[in-house]
Amino acid sequence: MKSYRVFIGLGANIGDRFAYLTKAAAELRALRDSSVVWFSPVYEADPWGKADQPKFLNAAVEITTTLAPDALLPELKKIEQKLGRSSHERWGAREIDLDILLYDGLVYHDDQVTVPHVDLEHRRFALVPLREIAADVVHPVNGLTMTELAAACADQGRVVKTIFHLL
Ligand code: ADP
Ligand code: MG
Repeated sequence: MKSYRVFIGLGANIGDRFAYLTKAAAELRALRDSSVVWFSPVYEADPWGKADQPKFLNAAVEITTTLAPDALLPELKKIEQKLGRSSHERWGAREIDLDILLYDGLVYHDDQVTVPHVDLEHRRFALVPLREIAADVVHPVNGLTMTELAAACADQGRVVKTIFHLL
């Protein structure tokens, strides 16, 4: 079965943010039909979209998987639920958020999932961690690498590297 190269963004801004990221990392390692390639360092980022909420910790991970996007996203939502995500407000505070940022070279859209992630090029908090593990990976819609997209991103939010790393 063909295996695909997928990049997932992780975010947390409620409670013990690093503990939530660590638990999510362990769940991703256990994800069926998939293996983790590597994690980016952990960054701290200003909230995006909705300003009056705590800062986020964000990271990115590369996995290889045989799961199609419409099978992978429900698995990510299961992990969010298992870890106790309580809020579902769009752009709002949450214990853990797992987004599919890039799914190989695929451009795909249905009711549940859009890949590449619809806001990727507008989100510094997603691009800066992603750039560390996907510098030369090309966005299949606009043809720009993650390095180029991060450099061109108009988002002024602060995204600062921490000393923490996921395993
Ligand atoms: P956000 O992450 O944008 O702040 P949510 O985590 O609440 O918001 O997700 C809102 C919805 O976005 C999810 O229910 C999911 O169905 C949809 N969605 C569409 N494409 C993706 C994607 N590539 N990754 C994650 N969620 C996606
Ligand atoms: Mg999400």
